[in-house]
Amino acid sequence: MIVTDDTQREALFAAGKRLRAVLDAVLARVAVGVLVKSLDALAHTLIIDGGDTPSFLGYQPLGMAKQYPATLCVSLNDAVVHGVPQEGVALQEGDVLSVDCGLVHKGVFVDAACTVIVGEGDDQARALLEANRKALRYALVFARAGATTGDIGNAVETVAQEYGFVAPPELGGHGVGNAQHEEPFLPNLGDPGGGETLQEGQVLAIEPIFFEGEDSQIVTADDGFTYRTMSGKRSSHFEHTVLVTEETPVLVTGPMWE
Ligand code: MG
Ligand code: MG
Repeated sequence: MIVTDDTQREALFAAGKRLRAVLDAVLARVAVGVLVKSLDALAHTLIIDGGDTPSFLGYQPLGMAKQYPATLCVSLNDAVVHGVPQEGVALQEGDVLSVDCGLVHKGVFVDAACTVIVGEGDDQARALLEANRKALRYALVFARAGATTGDIGNAVETVAQEYGFVAPPELGGHGVGNAQHEEPFLPNLGDPGGGETLQEGQVLAIEPIFFEGEDSQIVTADDGFTYRTMSGKRSSHFEHTVLVTEETPVLVTGPMWE
């Protein structure tokens, strides 16, 4: 989506605010013993009660055999993204939980994700999340007209290397606003100045994904949706929708994840 007028801009920011409220409510519910299905049900109720539409529910990406069956993606530990909330699965102490959600408000699609540790966790999990948050902050600096998709990818890659984590090359951010996924694809690695040039008014979902270890390969789980790390090591994921401007990028689903 390229925002060209105030009506679109207002709808975009209203959508972002609504999505953030849903995610904040879901994250506030996270605790040991909570069923992931109940998080999904909460997100669904909040979005519907707000008069909006969950954008993941029923979404069928190109090449997928079936529609996504939930409002949230709930990806635990070695699950990377697109984790389907399964019946009977409860959160456990130390789980690395990624929650991803999207909604449509007045025709505008927004998308955001956050990873948290259930309970105390361990130092390595905290380092993974800290690095991943830093990568998103750094990548967002390049959501400016005249910068490129390669600048964003390079920002993510640089932080991953600094901390000793890896980002899977197949997964990344995307344009958003008129649909769940639009051009351009935003790889989480790249060369400064490479790729496509960003334009003023462009709406992007920037989403660095980090793995522990050195293996960035992914595998698809039996449910046909969930991506897992091939190594079995843990993964994290932070995402914001952002509006590209000539000056400072504007977070649509802010504030920044803490
Ligand atoms: Mg997302
Ligand atoms: Mg996304």
